[in-house]
Amino acid sequence: MVPTKQPSGTTSHKHPHRTAQRRIRTRPHRVGGIPTGADTIGGMRVVVVGAGVMGAWTALWLRRRGHVVTLVDRFGPGNQLGSSGDESRISRSSHGPDSHYPRWQRRALTQWRDLERAAGLQLFEQSGVAWLVSEGETFEADSLRVLTDLGIPVERWSHDDFARRVPQLNADAVPWAVFEPEGGALFARKAVVATVDRFVAEGGEVITGRVVAPIDERGDAVDAVRLDDGRTLTADAFVFTCGPWLPDLFPGALGDLITPHRQDVMHFAVPRDGRAYGPESLPVWIDFGGSFYGFPTFNGLGLKACPDWLGPIERCDESARACADATVDAARQVLRRRFPALADQPVVHTWTCFYEVTPDANFVIDRHPRLADAWIAGGGTGHAFKHGPVIGEYLSALVVGDSTAEVAPPDDRFAIRARQPSPSFRTSGRNPLEAASA
Ligand SMILES: Cc1cc2nc3c(=O)[nH]c(=O)nc-3n(C[C@H](O)[C@H](O)[C@H](O)COP(=O)(O)OP(=O)(O)OC[C@H]3O[C@@H](n4cnc5c(N)ncnc54)[C@H](O)[C@@H]3O)c2cc1C
Repeated sequence: MVPTKQPSGTTSHKHPHRTAQRRIRTRPHRVGGIPTGADTIGGMRVVVVGAGVMGAWTALWLRRRGHVVTLVDRFGPGNQLGSSGDESRISRSSHGPDSHYPRWQRRALTQWRDLERAAGLQLFEQSGVAWLVSEGETFEADSLRVLTDLGIPVERWSHDDFARRVPQLNADAVPWAVFEPEGGALFARKAVVATVDRFVAEGGEVITGRVVAPIDERGDAVDAVRLDDGRTLTADAFVFTCGPWLPDLFPGALGDLITPHRQDVMHFAVPRDGRAYGPESLPVWIDFGGSFYGFPTFNGLGLKACPDWLGPIERCDESARACADATVDAARQVLRRRFPALADQPVVHTWTCFYEVTPDANFVIDRHPRLADAWIAGGGTGHAFKHGPVIGEYLSALVVGDSTAEVAPPDDRFAIRARQPSPSFRTSGRNPLEAASA
């Protein structure tokens, strides 16, 4: 369990040694015209708001860099209302023609595995990831080429290979497949809790409380945030990793850069002897053209099967968070085709969360455009979880202005600015059932 500190009702949360500390300069330091962060490293007092995967890893990385860090979350770390609160998330290297994200995914996976060892817990199941290729799509062929060039293990399976190796998945109309033997499933919520536990073990502080909007500003800085119980947290730097709540917190700064789409998640019961649907027999599978994906059954949870096309736009605090009957029907249609033996199995678990969608599917990791001591990270666009450790590594370097770090900022792809729409890094995003009924 993550030890959390309930707010004690005091009005200030300044770092006790802050007066003895050198006040770190956090005004923008420009390299090539791009703000890179504070120009002094070490000894900062940092408040990280939001303990999902991005906040948890950013807090841990800042702590490891020697800073005094408080992590605040309105529902507590490992909650089920944030996007990181699901049971499982895919870790895969394929990102079509892009070679940035495969590198980050591999680096992040190493850090997840290090965390597993440190925590003595299983956080990742290396089931492999199979991409079902659709005629006319180039995503998988591009991925195969990029991963091969990068030296990341990847296999090309013919239709017959697939039918032989995964007979329980009907591969009709799948001419070939890309198989990532080192991909698999991260146990998401458990992994976030383990990250926060690690942060606490390394001297970090965790508080449960909601930072209220609007964020108070003094000139060009934040200086302090208020919690819903009246307490105030002061710091040298503030990091906001509030997932799908970010547009509510920073409507002016973000505009329509991040849009929250409700996504429905379903688990279906597997037959009593369900070994064919466990990770030893069934990889994670992704149908790029069909915008559908699924996981083998882990920990008795049943087979997960979900659409990847964008769900309705809803504000998190106003959403009923109910999985739509239409989505369950859509999942059954896919099961009927791909896993006929499961098509009429009962739904044993449903859940909803939000894709925080940016127009170009690149994350947002940048300094607030006006507030010199505030950084914003989010816009996971349905593919950020696996990268969490490296997002934290990158963001911590950005906050302290370390442009010599191995994962070094700045990187313009994450900037807060208007973006051109471009293809998703997950699937085609098209809903083939809608197209069929049109
Ligand atoms: C259905 C679904 C499937 C996905 N599949 C994958 C996948 O297979 N692989 C993958 O890599 N990624 C996947 N993703 C994306 C990934 O899960 C998210 O992008 C990622 O978890 C977002 O993490 P985050 O830390 O930005 O936000 P969150 O996890 O939402 O964390 C934000 C935190 O901020 C807190 N907070 C918000 N407002 C405040 C406030 N005012 N004060 C204090 N605390 C606050 C919340 O309580 C929350 O805990 C998927 C997402 C969804 C929804």
